[in-house]
Amino acid sequence: MQIQVIPRDHSGLSALNGQDPGFGNFFSDHMLVREWSGNAWGDARIVARGPLEVEPSALGIHYGQSVFEGLKAYQGTQDDAIRLFRPDQNAARLEASCLRLCIPPVRTDEFIECIRELILVDAAWVPKRRGHALYIRPLVFATEGHLAVRPSSRYQFVITTAPVAPYFSANSRALRLKAEARFTRAAIGGTGSAKTSGNYAATLRPMVAAAAEGFDQILWLDARDHAFAEEAGQMNIFFRIGDEVVTPELSGTILPGVTRDSVLTLLDVWGIATATRRVSMSELAQASRSGELVEIFGAGTAAVVAPVASIRHLDEEISTTPVEGPSLAERLRETLLGIQHGEIEDPYNWVCSVS
Ligand SMILES: *Cc1c(COP(=O)(O)O)cnc(C)c1O
Repeated sequence: MQIQVIPRDHSGLSALNGQDPGFGNFFSDHMLVREWSGNAWGDARIVARGPLEVEPSALGIHYGQSVFEGLKAYQGTQDDAIRLFRPDQNAARLEASCLRLCIPPVRTDEFIECIRELILVDAAWVPKRRGHALYIRPLVFATEGHLAVRPSSRYQFVITTAPVAPYFSANSRALRLKAEARFTRAAIGGTGSAKTSGNYAATLRPMVAAAAEGFDQILWLDARDHAFAEEAGQMNIFFRIGDEVVTPELSGTILPGVTRDSVLTLLDVWGIATATRRVSMSELAQASRSGELVEIFGAGTAAVVAPVASIRHLDEEISTTPVEGPSLAERLRETLLGIQHGEIEDPYNWVCSVS
C-alpha cells in the first residue's frame, strides 16, 4: 500500500482558535481515502477534507452495509509525542465488523499505518489540553450502485479526524439513565457486537424521547426479556456491587469496547474482583435498596469513564450509595488519561507513539 499525500493549501485550524471543540463541531484539514474495486484494497490518498462523490444507489446508504471505528490521538503533556491507545484493538474490531457485514477487511498493519500518516499530516490539530484529543473516525461503506440486497462489489475506506473535548466533561454531574423497557438496541443473532451504522439509527427515536424526559442516556436492556442490563448509550456499563465490579458479558449483543477491556485489566491489576456476567434489573434494584450498589459508570473512548448517579427502571429509581474516598470511576479515568497522555508508565504496551 502506498500513501500519497496531497496537502491542502490553507489550514482551517484558525477557525478553532482556542474555542471548546465540543464533540464533532470541528474537523481537521485532511482525510484519507482508499477504494476496494473488486478484488483488493488500492493505494491510499490523504487529501483536503471535503465532500465525497457518492453513487445515489450506493448499497451502503440504502441497505446499511457500513461499519466504522472510533479511537483517539493524545498529545503528550510532558513530551512532544502523539500517542494512539490500543489501535490494534480497533483494527481487530473493524475486521470483525467487516466480516459480519460481508465487507472486505482492512489489514491491521495498513489500518494503523493509514491512521499514523493522517495524524502526522494533521499533527497541529491534536489538542494540547489534557483530556482533549483528536478523535479518529475510520469508516468503510459499500459504494456500488445497485438495487439488489447483496454484498457490494465496491467499497470506500475513509478516515476523518476531529479535535474533541471528552463527550461528558469531567465536571459535568453524574448521568441519569433511563432503562429502556420498550425499544431495544440489539438482539441475539443480530449485529449488536459489530460497530455498524444501522445499530445507531435504531437508537435515535428512544434517545430523543429519553432526552425529552430529562435523561442523559439510555440503559439498553436485553431484547428478549427486557430484564438484563446491556449498554449505556454508546458506552459499556459497569456496576460496583459490594466488593465486586460487574459488567455484562459479551454475549453477542454487546459491543466489545476497548475501554471496557482496559477497565477490566486495570481492576484486575489493582486486586479488585471483577465479574463478567448477566446483570438483572432486579439484582440492581435489590442492591440499590440494600445500599450495596456503590457505583455505576459507563466506559468508552468518547466518554472515557463517566459516572452514573441513577437509573430509572419503570417506576423504580435505582441509585447508588457512594462510599468514602475517591471513586473507582475517578481512579480509572485518571489512570487511563495518564497512560494516554504519557504521564504514567504503560506496563501493558497499550500506547504507541505516532511520531
Ligand atoms: C464504540 C462503542 C462502545 C465503546 O467502545 P470503545 O472501544 O471503548 O470506544 C460501547 N458501546 C457501543 C454501542 C459503541 O458503539
